[in-house]
Order: sequence, then C-alpha cells, then structure tokens
Amino acid sequence: MPDVVSLIHVKRDNRRPLTDAEIGWLFAAYAGGEVADEQMAALLMAIYFNGLDGAELRAWTGAMIASGERLNLAAAAVDAAGRPRPSVDKHSTGGVGDKVSLVVAPLVASCGAVVPMISGRGLGHTGGTLDKLESIPGWRASLGNQELTAALTKVGAVIAAAGSGLAPADRRLYALRDVTGTVESIPLIASSIMSKKIAEGTQALVLDVKTGSGAFMRDQARATQLARTMVALGAEHHVRTRALVTRMDTPLGRAVGNALEVEEAVKALTGEGPDDLMEVTFALAEHMLELAGINASPDEEIASGRAFDTYQRMIRAQGGDPDAPLPAARHVRDALLAPETGWITGLDALAVGIAAWRLGAGRARKEDDVSHTAGVRCLAKPGDRVRRGQPILELHADDESRFAPAAEALEAAGTVTIGSAPPPRTPLVVSVISAADVADEGGT
Ligand code: URA
Repeated sequence: MPDVVSLIHVKRDNRRPLTDAEIGWLFAAYAGGEVADEQMAALLMAIYFNGLDGAELRAWTGAMIASGERLNLAAAAVDAAGRPRPSVDKHSTGGVGDKVSLVVAPLVASCGAVVPMISGRGLGHTGGTLDKLESIPGWRASLGNQELTAALTKVGAVIAAAGSGLAPADRRLYALRDVTGTVESIPLIASSIMSKKIAEGTQALVLDVKTGSGAFMRDQARATQLARTMVALGAEHHVRTRALVTRMDTPLGRAVGNALEVEEAVKALTGEGPDDLMEVTFALAEHMLELAGINASPDEEIASGRAFDTYQRMIRAQGGDPDAPLPAARHVRDALLAPETGWITGLDALAVGIAAWRLGAGRARKEDDVSHTAGVRCLAKPGDRVRRGQPILELHADDESRFAPAAEALEAAGTVTIGSAPPPRTPLVVSVISAADVADEGGT
C-alpha cells in the first residue's frame, strides 16, 4: 500500500510518474482523512514544479471526477416533440467584461442544443457568471439535480452553481491551492476545470482560453498549452472538446460589472451587442453548434427574437424576473480623461478589471459579497476617436469612498494609449485547437 510521504518524495524529486493505483489511493485516502491537508499541499507544490505527464493527468482528473457524482442529462436529451437534443457547453477561463456565457447559452439552446452550464463566481479582477445573473431580481444559482434537469428539459439551457456532489475533491484542492501559491499550474488548472465539466455530463465542450493583460494566463504560449492540455483531457474522457484561444487585452464589450454586464448581454441577444462581444460570441456559438452536429445560424436566431425568448425563459425557470428593472448604482462618476486628441489604440483590461473590482463588482476572498450595481462603463474603446480631456470611463458605485482606490488603479501609464491613426483590427480569436491537434499529448 502506498504511503503519502513516499509519494511526495517521488514527485518532489521527479523520480518517476505516479501510477494510476497511487493516484486512486491518494484521493481515497484524502477523502477518508488519512492524508492531511498539509501533505496534499506539499504534493501540490511538487506538481507545481514538476508537472504531471499525460497518464498521470488522466488518472488525476479521473479521480477528481470519481470523487463525486456525474449528472445524467438523459431526460433533457430529447425535446418536447421527441427530437434528439445533443448537449454542448462552453467554459471561459475568465476575462474582464466577459459576459459571453449569458448570451451563448440561450443562443445555442435556441438553435436546438441542450446547454448544461455549471458556472462559477468571480475571484479577483475577473467577474463570475453567477454573480452577474444574481443581479436579476429573484434569480437563483443553486438548483438541486432534479430541478436542474427539469429546467434544462423545459428550456434547453441552465446556468447554475455546482452542487456539493460535483467533483467535491476539486473544491477542497482548489481551496488548498488558493492559500498555498499553487493555482498557476497548467495540469492542476486543466484537471480542475475539466473534472467539473466532464462530471456535468455534457457530450461536447468549447473552451474559451483567454490570453492577454486581463486574462488569468497572460502569456499566449502558456494559454495555448493550457488549451491543448484541456482538449486532450476532454478527448480522453470522451467529451468532444475544442478550445479557442482569444485575446483579452481590452475589456470585452463596454460594460464591466454585474448588472451592467447583464444589461449588455440583453442588448447582445436583441441584436444591439458591441462588435467585439458578438465576434467572440458567434465564434464560440458556431464551434458549439458544429460539435453538437446542429446546422443553424446564430445570427438569424438573434434576429428572429428566438434567442432572447429562450433567455427570458431560462431566467424565469430559475426564479428570476427578466422584465424587472436591474439595480443601478447610487453614484456615477467620469474617469480616465483622454491625455490628448486622437484615436484610442489601447485600453488595458487589467486596469479596468481592477477598478471594477475595487468599486465592489468583485471579491477579494471567496466568502465576500459583491455589489450588483458597481462597475465600469467604457465610454470609448480602442478604435474610437477622442478629444483631449474627454472621459473614457464611467465608474459606478454605491459607496463614494470606492472611487478613489478605483481611480488609482487607472492612473498607471499605459492604461489608455492614444495614437494618430486608428489601430489595425486584429481578430480576437488567436487559434482554434481540436482533438486532432493534440492526439498524443496531455501532460505538462
Ligand atoms: N478555474 C477553475 O475552475 N480551476 C482552476 O484551477 C482555475 C480556474
């Protein structure tokens, strides 16, 4: 029988890969209390430095999935008329102003798929989908398994919090990584994300791996490596998986913050979404539909009003009132004056994300509350012409004392750059990674 100290030595000294049996034993012993948090933390640090190879990562992810239940989506796999409905989900690694999930879930469901989107909350400068939707009066993120399947069967799309039974080992490991400096490890991130997505029971998955200043993985090479690792893991667990690496150098759309983003998502679903948001939304929707084997036009689905109708039904099925006014901040103030006249060539996503976070839109610790109304509206973005002194941002807060720390986050040189000509238009999708591209890999 393995003992945990020996496993830590093996991984710390990079002597050999851990075996499937050792990894299976480790997770069972951790769940049973035989392996202590400090021992698991030491092993996580060893993995942070020495990685996991393909076979180890497969076993590690399999053990995380097996630590809990797997949702059964069979009931939702046919529509009211008895036609089959393939399931497909989307996951983003998180960015500033990234409200794509709110748009793409009802959009793709409206095209005929089932979208079982288990989502998270925001931490740090990137927002969480559940926090955004909770700004809608009455909307509930927590659904029991039966309630979730019923809403999915009825509407075709659900966006909900993971129940306690879904990959519970990930919850414990993530909390441990958060306080031991071991979050930024590609195999640990990949297994954490993919274990939850695989346990959710979806047949297909499109990953939006963000890269750039506002992304969790700023560096494009590392973002690509994460994308490849997750695609390989999906394929190994028989989930048709594809990843899009997309740019996150500037906020997506013009709204950053919970209720502000819901408002913009509704605009997107009614045909008035900003170009950059629609570019990423349509790219993801098209790949989701292709993996699901559905031939439909997301554009037409929006133009016909059907996507918006699905959104409204999705919100109602979770107790929300899509017609109720969204909460608005008590105080609004202009910020970030254009330093000169010209064309905006850059607006730093990280600075804007930190400002929104300091205004109250995000949380510093998992247990903090978020403000539904706080956030930032971009009055001008790269490609827009501005006059010297013209405000580029509008800050929203309930508490006026939040303005000064938010404004401070925007003061650094380079938050906004102005040029004498509009910047060249660069596509937001940097690359697409399919299972065929990663047939022989997995580990890092
Ligand atoms: N999101 C997750 O779910 N897990 C990670 O490790 C990082 C981001």
